Amino acid sequence: MQVKETSGLSKEQKELLSAAIRGSDEAYNPYFPLKVGAAVRMADGEMVVGGHSSYAVGGASVCAERAVLYKLKPAQRENIEALAAYVWTPGGLSAVDVPVNSMTPCGVCRQAYAEVVFVSGRDIEYIGGASSTDKVVIATISELLPNAYMSPTLIAKLQKPEKPILITRALVPGPVEIVFEPEKPTERSGNRDSA
Ligand SMILES: [Zn+2]
Repeated sequence: MQVKETSGLSKEQKELLSAAIRGSDEAYNPYFPLKVGAAVRMADGEMVVGGHSSYAVGGASVCAERAVLYKLKPAQRENIEALAAYVWTPGGLSAVDVPVNSMTPCGVCRQAYAEVVFVSGRDIEYIGGASSTDKVVIATISELLPNAYMSPTLIAKLQKPEKPILITRALVPGPVEIVFEPEKPTERSGNRDSA
């Protein structure tokens, strides 16, 4: 992971970071004056933008990086070349000081993009910026999440796509037969003879 001045970015990188700033227009955060926008650049140069959503219940929220990813059809996701995210504080440069580590994607987003990289075989460049600094973070998804978890079913599918997928138990060779047995009635203490 590199940290460099925004002025040192290439024209293509600056355009993607600008698109990420536009993505913050789609952000929803009624609790705190902070918005995050993201953008992806596809292999054909098209850029797609999105913003984060923060809800009172955390599980309902979604980061800007995944908001963009989920806008794309599955086949399109394999054509992502680069991802940018930008933390924007409406109060200006000094409103919130965003440290370098906060300009990188969270673990959930890293995992989601790592799966895209795994399926496509194409690493994705990441650029992270914030309105509180002239610095940007440059990395790749593989750098951000090395040795990412992958489902054994997905691995099998990618290795032999024309064959049917058997659900196998990880680390056990060969298919495992899964048998569902009817639940046996259990003796409850309340039904016991108290004598
Ligand atoms: Zn995230």
